[in-house]
Amino acid sequence: MVARAQAEESLETDGRGDGVELGLNGKRALVTASSRGIGKACALEFAREGADVVICARGTDALAATRDAIAGETGRKVVAVTTDLSFGAQIEELIERTRSELGGLDILVTNAGGPPSGQFMDFDDEAWMKAVSLNLMSVVRLNRAAIPMMREAGGGAIVNLTSISVKEPIKGLVLSNSIRAGVVGLSKTLASELGPDGIRVNVVCPGYTATDRMTELMTARAEREGKSYDDIAAGFYGSVPLGTFGEPADIARMVAFLASDAANYVTGVTVQVDGGAVRGLL
Ligand code: NAD
Repeated sequence: MVARAQAEESLETDGRGDGVELGLNGKRALVTASSRGIGKACALEFAREGADVVICARGTDALAATRDAIAGETGRKVVAVTTDLSFGAQIEELIERTRSELGGLDILVTNAGGPPSGQFMDFDDEAWMKAVSLNLMSVVRLNRAAIPMMREAGGGAIVNLTSISVKEPIKGLVLSNSIRAGVVGLSKTLASELGPDGIRVNVVCPGYTATDRMTELMTARAEREGKSYDDIAAGFYGSVPLGTFGEPADIARMVAFLASDAANYVTGVTVQVDGGAVRGLL
């Protein structure tokens, strides 16, 4: 297969560093929802490895600051495109900007803001449809728009970010527990359909990761359960075998690996990066 042969060649010839060679140098990546948190860490990781990157988020100021920080540290091209991922038309504009700024696409990482926390009876149809738009349809639309560019490039890698909720439902997160499972079904299906095109599709599931989202979730749970924030945090820490939250960079390294030529025989997997939090066998 052409893409696999190319990947092997780039691993052999692109001799940067002494560790595992990722072969990301010169690649073109789109990482969505990336002004902060896990998405930002992924964009930074790709740029550090020599990729040019398009980032996006709803606002402009934080996004521009992130663009400047990553470009300043890495010297790579970093393009910021204000985008609300709940809307298909804005995703189309994002993809068009990606094509015009990077000239094509090798890597897509789909990330989005998380759905609100709460229990089943808390949410009406409108809340469900909002969460479907943001956490399932954005993945559908981004994958669909990226695939033609990857076919043009002779192959590519997609990493769809979800949550450990796809392996073990999380208390008080019914929207995430339900809707993100669809991303796993989609990704596994695409891995089969797109293998012949040299396009790999994998899923990364962050566990409890030290970001603003985690702080917001723990604050909401403390209010809901009438407990202190510290008690709630201690409960989360206690549930992780490695005894601490992950850092966004921990997730980003797995994403970069799966998107890289070093993982050129890996497709259709759903991998958690969670300090051991998921207790199931798979
Ligand atoms: P975060 O709140 O730190 O960052 C979220 C990013 O998404 C920001 O850049 C924000 O601007 C952007 N964003 C939000 N809504 C958007 C929209 N409609 N359109 C475009 N961009 C949007 O969150 P995080 O902790 O980095 O989490 C990222 C994703 O990973 C979320 O879906 C979250 O639920 C999921 N996740 C997080 C954890 C965790 O512990 N932090 C664990 C599992 C899954």
